[in-house]
Amino acid sequence: MYVKGVGPARAAMLEAKGLKAVEDVLTYAPFRYEDRSNVKSIRQLAPGEMATVMAEVRSTKMAGFHRRNLGMFQATFTDSSRGTLVGKWFHGAYLADVFAPGQKVALFGKVEFDSYSGQLAMMHPEFEILAGDEDGDASLHTGRVVPIYEAAGKITTRVFRVLLHRILESIAPLPDPLPAHVLQQLKLPDRWSAIRALHFPPPESDLRLLNAFRSPAQFRLIFEEFFWLECGLELKRAKARLYPGIAFALTDRVRERIKQMLPFKPTGAQKRVLAEIAHDMSAPHPMYRLLQGDVGSGKTLVAAEAAIIAIENGHQVAVLAPTEILAAQHFFYFKKLFQKLGYVTILLTGSNTPREKTQLKRLVAGGLAQVVVGTHALLEADVEFSKLGLAIVDEQHRFGVEQRQALMEKGSHPDVLVMTATPIPRTLALTIYGDLDVSVIDEMPPGRKPIVTKHVPQDRVEQVYSFLKKQVDLGRQAYVVYPVIEESETQAMKAAEKMHGHLSQVVFPDIPVGLLHGRLSTDEKEAAMEKFQRGETKILVSTTVIEVGVDVPNATVMVIEQAERFGLAQLHQLRGRVGRGRDQSYCILVTGKLNETARERIRTLVESNDGFYIAEMDMKLRGPGEFFGTRQSGLPALQIGNILRDADILELARNQAAAFVANPPTGDDLRRAVAFIRDHWQRRYGLVQVG
Ligand code: ADP
Ligand code: MG
Repeated sequence: MYVKGVGPARAAMLEAKGLKAVEDVLTYAPFRYEDRSNVKSIRQLAPGEMATVMAEVRSTKMAGFHRRNLGMFQATFTDSSRGTLVGKWFHGAYLADVFAPGQKVALFGKVEFDSYSGQLAMMHPEFEILAGDEDGDASLHTGRVVPIYEAAGKITTRVFRVLLHRILESIAPLPDPLPAHVLQQLKLPDRWSAIRALHFPPPESDLRLLNAFRSPAQFRLIFEEFFWLECGLELKRAKARLYPGIAFALTDRVRERIKQMLPFKPTGAQKRVLAEIAHDMSAPHPMYRLLQGDVGSGKTLVAAEAAIIAIENGHQVAVLAPTEILAAQHFFYFKKLFQKLGYVTILLTGSNTPREKTQLKRLVAGGLAQVVVGTHALLEADVEFSKLGLAIVDEQHRFGVEQRQALMEKGSHPDVLVMTATPIPRTLALTIYGDLDVSVIDEMPPGRKPIVTKHVPQDRVEQVYSFLKKQVDLGRQAYVVYPVIEESETQAMKAAEKMHGHLSQVVFPDIPVGLLHGRLSTDEKEAAMEKFQRGETKILVSTTVIEVGVDVPNATVMVIEQAERFGLAQLHQLRGRVGRGRDQSYCILVTGKLNETARERIRTLVESNDGFYIAEMDMKLRGPGEFFGTRQSGLPALQIGNILRDADILELARNQAAAFVANPPTGDDLRRAVAFIRDHWQRRYGLVQVG
C-alpha cells in the first residue's frame, strides 16, 4: 500500500484487520457516527445542549470512592476562551494515564450545570486525544458528522480519518462495477460518491439513518457487497449443476414403491419438497439440496422417499448421522419403512467390532446392502460402495463441507441431500450454504398440538416429579435429559447415572426408569431405546445423546435439567422429541441461576415453538459466526454488510444477482462481472473457480 503516513508498521496493523489494498481501506466502514457540527468555545456553552469543545487538560483528580476503578475520575479543562469545564467519568481511574495536564483533547457530550461545583460539566463525554502533528486538519474531526472507526492496532479512529482523507484526495475516482441497469432500477448512488459519503457524510445527513447503516451510501455499499457475493454463489451453483451426474428414472414402479412404503399421507409441504428433490434427481447432474424443516416436520420420511428413487434405479443410499444414537435411530426408522420393500438396511458405526465391520463392509462393497446408515465411520477410506447414488447427510450443522465431500467421493457424482432441523430464512440459507439449493418443509404433520413449555427453578424440582408421576399414571412416557458439556460426556454420564438411581429408587420406586448415555455399548443403547419405544420403561434418563432423532409418539414430557447450559437450538431440538402424538405434550426447563443471555434463551423457548424464530434468536444472541461454527466454511467474513442486520438488503441483492446471472443484459456484462468477482472477490472470500 503506497499511502503517505503508512509505513511498514502501520501496513502490518492494517493487514491484520484484513485491510490489504487501498480499496479495502476505502470500504472500511465506520461502525458509528457522531454529530460534531456544533463546535463551541467553553464560554459559549449553555446547559442542555450537545456540543463539541476543543480544550486542554488543566488538572485531574479522583473523587468519591477510592477503591480502584470504582471512583469518579474528574478532569478540569480550559480553552482559549478561558472558560472551565469539568468532565466526569465513573469507574474512570484508568483515565489518569490518558489525561495528563497540558494534554489537548476534543470532548463531545451534553452540557450540564454542576450545582455541586457551580461549574459547567459533561458526564461521560466522548473524547479524542488531539495528537498534534499527525492529526491533519481539525475539520476532519469536528465541525461535521464524524465517522468513528474501530481501531486497527495503534491506528486510531483519528488516524483513519486522516488516512482516508489523504487517500480520497490523492486517487482518481474508482469506476463503478455494478451493472448500470441495477444502479438505475434501485436508484443507487455511484460507488465513488458512496465511498466519499461513507467517510465524509454530507452536512444534511440524517444521523439516525447513518447509525442504522441505512444512509444511501451505506445501503449502496452493503448492497454491492451482497450482490457480488450472491453472483459468485449463483455462478458457482450453476457451474456445479453442469457436472455429469446420475439421471434417475421416475417410473411408475418407483411411484408404486413409494406408495407402498408410506405409513401415512404426506403433508402438502412434504409433497412439494419431494417434487423438488425428484426433479433434481432425474436431471443428469448431481443434486446438492438442503432440506430444512423444524424438528418433527417429517424430513426423514421425505428422505426415505428419495432413497427409494435411488434404490429402484439400482443404486445404494448412504445416510450419515452425527451421533451414534441418531444413526441407530435412523437405522431403525429406515429398516422399519423398507422391510416391506425387501431392501437391506445396515448400520455401521465406530462401536461395531472389527469383525462386524469387515462383514458389513463386504455387504456394502458387494452391493448387497441398499441402505447404509452410519456415523463418521462411514467416511473411512476402506468403506467402499458398489454403486452409491444418493448421500443423505443429517444435521448439516455438525458436518463440515469436507465431510460431505468425503462421502460424495465414495460414488461417482452421487446426489446429495442435506437435512437440517435448524431452519433459517431461505435467503440466508442460500448464502450460508453457498453451494446448496434449498427446500423447506413449513408445515407440521396433522394433529400436532403445540408443546407447552415451562421454566422451573431447581429448588422447585419436586413439582416436576409429581407432574411426571401424573403423566405416567395417564399412560404417558417422559424423558429426563442432562447436558453434555463438550468433551465431558463422562461428567454428564455420572450425573445421569446418579439421577437414574435417585429417580428409580427414591422418587419413582414403582415406575420403570431407563438409562441411556454415550458410554453404553451399541447393544445396550439399542436395548434401552427399544424398551422405551415399546413402553416398557416409562421414564428415560439420558445425556444429550438423544438430542436428535428419537421418535416415541407416546412420550409427552421432556424434562431438561440444567437447561441454562444448553444452546437455544439444542433446547428446541430436545423439545422436539415430544409432541409427536395426539396428546398434549410438555417441555420443562429446570435451571439454576440464570445470567442475562441464559434468561433470554429460556424466555424465547417458553414463548415460542417456531423453529425459524428460535434459530433467528439464536443467531442474534450468539452472532452468526458462532452460530454456524468455524466448521461451516461457507460463511464469508463480510466488510460492511451484516447478514442479520441487513437481511432485507441481502434478499434484494440475491434476487438481483439471480436475475442478473440468469439473464444478463449482454454477454459482455456477464463477462465483466465474472472478471470483477474473480479479481476482487475470490481474494477476499475464497469463492473458488467462478465462471
Ligand atoms: P424430522 O426428521 O423432520 O424431525 P420425522 O421425519 O422424524 O421428522 O417425523 C416426525 C414424526 O412425524 C415421526 O413420528 C414421523 O413418522 C411422523 N410423520 C412424518 N410425516 C408425517 C405425516 N405426513 N403424517 C403423519 N405423521 C408424520
Ligand atoms: Mg441426478
